[in-house]
Amino acid sequence: MNAARIPLVAGNWKMHHGGASAIELAAELTRRAARIDGVEIVLAPPFTALAAVAMTCAEMAEMEHTTPLRVAAQNVHAEDKGAFTGEISPPMLLEAGCTWVIVGHSERRQLFGETDAMVAQKAKAALAHRLHPIVCIGETLAEREAGRALEVVLGQLAAVTDVLVAGKGAVVVAYEPVWAIGTGKTATPADAQEIHGAIRKALAERDPVLAGKTRILYGGSVKPDNTAELLGQPDIDGALVGGASLDAASFEAILRAARQLLDRPARTE
Ligand code: PEP
Repeated sequence: MNAARIPLVAGNWKMHHGGASAIELAAELTRRAARIDGVEIVLAPPFTALAAVAMTCAEMAEMEHTTPLRVAAQNVHAEDKGAFTGEISPPMLLEAGCTWVIVGHSERRQLFGETDAMVAQKAKAALAHRLHPIVCIGETLAEREAGRALEVVLGQLAAVTDVLVAGKGAVVVAYEPVWAIGTGKTATPADAQEIHGAIRKALAERDPVLAGKTRILYGGSVKPDNTAELLGQPDIDGALVGGASLDAASFEAILRAARQLLDRPARTE
């Protein structure tokens, strides 16, 4: 991690905790995170729980005298309104209390046919409404085994780079190798750093300021015991956590591991 970029840890709850249990988990996480300073924390519950979680985070933060945990949606439609049955727009997410939105998660790309162009449109719509996008990119196992990991990841990034450069808001890119999501396998810290470094270099070629401030998260079976090693890499600025974010104790342990890295003496490179 680099001290110039505030580390960010986001929990993607996927299709878990849609109602009362979401409120309980958000309240418990606020209590546990209250004394972990210096790490930005984002929770991404299902749509049905967004408003309740955002309200719980705000109310609990007041009680705990702390900053509210931020809330993200897991997806968004690019249009503001219209005949799009089943879809949710950026203004609706804002009304529900979201400040962040995940776009292009590999499950959306693989299971719901989202293309690079659709992901770019969603990121653009989010930025237009001052919602911060967390743009997910990552290669499949077959692509990695074919030696195409970097090419695939940089291709997905290129499809959205114009939007990120023009958007001017805070953006986050999440590198999530598809083969590491929910499998218990993680990229080695060195392999992850290689991709993160290449992502930052590609952004810098377009906009050095954007590259310097964009946080690049690693996602894919992040757990308390691998967080420090992964986030210890210079271009890994946080984590997008799936399974381990559903358990308050393990999410807290990940936050603490991220926080501890901030206390390390700065390296001279
Ligand atoms: C994810 O869904 O974004 C993710 C990284 O999941 P997991 O941590 O369970 O691999």
